[in-house]
Amino acid sequence: MNKRAFLEGFFTASTAAFGGHFMWQRINQQSPLLARADESAQTAGIATAKPELFQFTPIEIESIQPAEGIPKPVPSLDAKINLETVKLTDHEVDSYLRKIRNFDAVFANDIYLDQRYKSVLLKTTQHLTRLETHIGHGNFNLTSFDNMLKHGRNFPEIGAFEADELNFLEEIFFVNPHRYGFFGKKISAEITDFIPANDVAKISNTGHYLLKGESLNLYQQIQRDVGEEVILTSGVRGIVKQIHLFLAKAIEANGNLSRASRSLAPPGHSYHGIGDFDIGKIGFGARNFTADFSTTEEYRKISHLNYVDIRYPTDNLFGVRFEPWHIKLA
Ligand SMILES: [Zn+2]
Repeated sequence: MNKRAFLEGFFTASTAAFGGHFMWQRINQQSPLLARADESAQTAGIATAKPELFQFTPIEIESIQPAEGIPKPVPSLDAKINLETVKLTDHEVDSYLRKIRNFDAVFANDIYLDQRYKSVLLKTTQHLTRLETHIGHGNFNLTSFDNMLKHGRNFPEIGAFEADELNFLEEIFFVNPHRYGFFGKKISAEITDFIPANDVAKISNTGHYLLKGESLNLYQQIQRDVGEEVILTSGVRGIVKQIHLFLAKAIEANGNLSRASRSLAPPGHSYHGIGDFDIGKIGFGARNFTADFSTTEEYRKISHLNYVDIRYPTDNLFGVRFEPWHIKLA
């Protein structure tokens, strides 16, 4: 990709994310949420962090696991791309590409959650894990923010969500993720946005759901053309589910939000909210969520279907790693 094409695409992607006057005001507010490890490069509203103080114990990490686990990347195939062949001249473009190709590495100018949020991050994520355990993995995919609050109030084994947790969830939802290096657009404007139960179909044997219509049709067409070995690995996801995945990833990344967002869209920014879905090969396990999926016969067949597109190709402009498994809804 040449530099001009990259920057033009970058501009388009950035503009798309700034919809509406309301959001514009929210994202411009200074936030105490973010910190930068590198003291020499301070930005307004971004404090400095000592990432080594942001460590969680193995027991703490065990206590927040989402049902399907946190995506565990293996070194991706495209990490081997020779940067010299890309002919990059601009330092920022170079650094951007290096980050998304080595998405699970730590970079000097990565943005961290401020350490003051360490305990509320852990507490809130554990709370969401209790909710998921209580209502079940399938239901948790669709549960709304309001439903989360109601369940917390009604069931002592979950417990009511407290003011510090709710403030934290709002801050995480409304901070502009451009500030920590994620450039996908905002899909949901409000934390209370939800997916109506009548709009989805349960996909048997998967624990996941798809939006009826285009999304469900696309999945069924892929299965007809590629075979029953292809299976839904994640379907439509509500905001609460995306928050839980993102916070669990942030804990695993020791508070490094840049690193977390290179492999998981921040809440409100996941195309899983509007019809995208993930597919895998039966029996391929966790490798379905690695670049290894692109070496399977199923992926080869899918890539020859002219009606299928993936959302995050190599060197995409969203700030996200290569995801051959993530099917884009046209
Ligand atoms: Zn996906």
